[in-house]
Amino acid sequence: MAQHVAPPTATTPALPAKLPIGAIAPWAVFFGILMLVLLYFVGSEQGATSVFNGTDVHEWVHDARHLLGFPCH
Ligand SMILES: [Zn+2]
Repeated sequence: MAQHVAPPTATTPALPAKLPIGAIAPWAVFFGILMLVLLYFVGSEQGATSVFNGTDVHEWVHDARHLLGFPCH
C-alpha cells in the first residue's frame, strides 16, 4: 500500500513583523534623554559642573561613577 505524500506547495516566505517606528520613536527619544541626564549626574555632577550645591548627588552615585571608570579621586 503506497502512502500518499502531499507535494510541496509554493508558499511565500514569512516576512518579519514590521516595527511601528512611529510609536516607538518618542519613547526611544524620551529614554535616551533620560539616560543622558543620568549619565551626566553619574559622570559630571561634581565641582564646577555640578547642578546642585554640595556633594549629595555625587555621593549617591559615587559607586556607579567608579564602576563606569569616570575620574573621581
Ligand atoms: Zn570616588
